Amino acid sequence: MTALDETQTRVGAEYDAIIIGAGISGMYQLYRLRELGLRVLVLEAGTGVGGTWYWNRYPGARFDSESYSYSYSFSKDLLSEWNWEEHFAPQPETLRYLNHVADRFDLRRDIQFRSRVSAAHYQGDSRSWDVMLENGARFRSRFLITAIGPLSAPTLPRIEGVDSFKGEAYHTARWPHEPVSFAGKRVAVIGTGATGVQTIQEVAKTAGHLTVFQRTPNWCTPLHNSKISAAEMETIRAGYPEMFKRCQETFACFLHTPDPRGTFEVTPEEREAFFETLYASPGFGIWQGNFRDILTDPKANDLISDFVARKIRQRVTDQAVAEKLIPKNHGFGTRRVPMETKYYEVYNQPNVQLVDLLETPIERITETGIKTSDASYEFDIIIYATGFDAITGSFDRIDLRGVDGVRLKDVWKQGPRTYLGVMVEGFPNMMMLMGPHTALGNIPRSIEYNVEWVTGVVRHARDHGLTLVAATEAGVASWTEHVKALGVGLLSNEVNSWMTGINSNVEGKQTRIIARYSGSAPAYRARCDAVAADGYREMALA
Ligand SMILES: Cc1cc2nc3c(=O)[nH]c(=O)nc-3n(C[C@H](O)[C@H](O)[C@H](O)COP(=O)(O)OP(=O)(O)OC[C@H]3O[C@@H](n4cnc5c(N)ncnc54)[C@H](O)[C@@H]3O)c2cc1C
Repeated sequence: MTALDETQTRVGAEYDAIIIGAGISGMYQLYRLRELGLRVLVLEAGTGVGGTWYWNRYPGARFDSESYSYSYSFSKDLLSEWNWEEHFAPQPETLRYLNHVADRFDLRRDIQFRSRVSAAHYQGDSRSWDVMLENGARFRSRFLITAIGPLSAPTLPRIEGVDSFKGEAYHTARWPHEPVSFAGKRVAVIGTGATGVQTIQEVAKTAGHLTVFQRTPNWCTPLHNSKISAAEMETIRAGYPEMFKRCQETFACFLHTPDPRGTFEVTPEEREAFFETLYASPGFGIWQGNFRDILTDPKANDLISDFVARKIRQRVTDQAVAEKLIPKNHGFGTRRVPMETKYYEVYNQPNVQLVDLLETPIERITETGIKTSDASYEFDIIIYATGFDAITGSFDRIDLRGVDGVRLKDVWKQGPRTYLGVMVEGFPNMMMLMGPHTALGNIPRSIEYNVEWVTGVVRHARDHGLTLVAATEAGVASWTEHVKALGVGLLSNEVNSWMTGINSNVEGKQTRIIARYSGSAPAYRARCDAVAADGYREMALA
């Protein structure tokens, strides 16, 4: 079955539910609402499914979650037929997987691609949403479900001259579908977050010369990726029920979860040995499976930071460069930890140079390259690995208006206010998947739960003839306070990062907010389950 396109849009078309976004969230939500027999339409800005894995085609893009722990768990057939090829799959493999899911469940026939939603306005008289595309097409729907992604609105740096560069320039999240060759070329990468690190270690393999422009170094640790043999895949498959059960029980739905011991409850020798084991183990274990207090006790955090700093000094030959690569303004794990494969060794290559923007800031992008406070560099290619306007950014880009035309952007001016991270007061019949204040972690596990909870609300409305489901003022106040309280004492809330809503490239995003729920995923689910079990009586239903 082919997908819809813009020419098939019917002005005034009516739906039970419109979902914005065809990433992992939107695809699964479509599947579940179709099961209820509803008329559902997905509106997606891109030309294909996959969201994050559709857009982020940059060299080196891959999972930091174990592939099999990241995949959908809802279908036994899907689990039995899909073989993962790498423990941490590269982007092409993941996109293949998500296309397979779309084919297998015939999702495309209800997805309209090339359709960026520019506005959605609630209509009180009909208790429905008017949804508008950039091209002027309009739709009406009882329910509006946003599946627009926590990391889907890319940002360029606010540097003078960004448009003036005459060579090739790419943002990692808007990477072309055709291959880009770096062979023999002078390449610049701006940004050293998780994406920058993956890009740099890949581009350094072929670039004639690579210059890395770093403002904030991050604490990076080895991914230890490897191929999955056929026999190993069968073992993984046989273990799926236990693996997904474990992901339900861990703090953030990863295979890794904090060690119950405190950093100072073991001897220095035991501590060092534990850190060594974690550093040599695949994936996020060193971050998510470390001593329970490394992200709350500054002294504990100092020890793991010191350990990783020593590793960086061992791996980088030039000690002046090593010092620049060691973060000084935040401790290990208090920002998203980039996973790497020989990242630090890149700086030992003769074709790679590190420019520390704290010492010599960029003054402007020129027609031929980049000018810093002390030098001019010429490039054939500039890569912007400058990340996203995270969590609230994709909401800010839609003119979302609730009851009486109130704008969501205004409601969230001082930071998001939500009910269970799913609803907003004054925005009836609108539900968010992976919006602010939900449990993130190993994200598809949280997505599946969120989608199922939202589906429960819609089913309840259908079964009881309800045309309005809304968050109450008390519900929003209590959840928002709860989320804020959970953030107290977390070292990560004391540093600037996308997780605290800071983005120097976006106007108005210089004040820290509590953007995400930082409690445990099991606690989050228990709270949401209780609301459902009580017949959603905490919500306003009519
Ligand atoms: C490079 C990278 C690596 C990552 N690695 C991991 C990992 O290892 N583990 C992990 O758990 N998470 C990871 N993530 C987080 C990742 O975003 C989530 O795992 C997951 O893909 C989110 O799915 P989603 O469907 O909620 O959002 P997305 O995948 O972001 O999809 C949102 C979709 O909505 C569409 N959209 C947005 N606004 C509009 C609009 N106005 N109109 C129409 N369409 C719109 C977008 O085009 C997009 O297709 C990574 C993110 C990035 C960027």
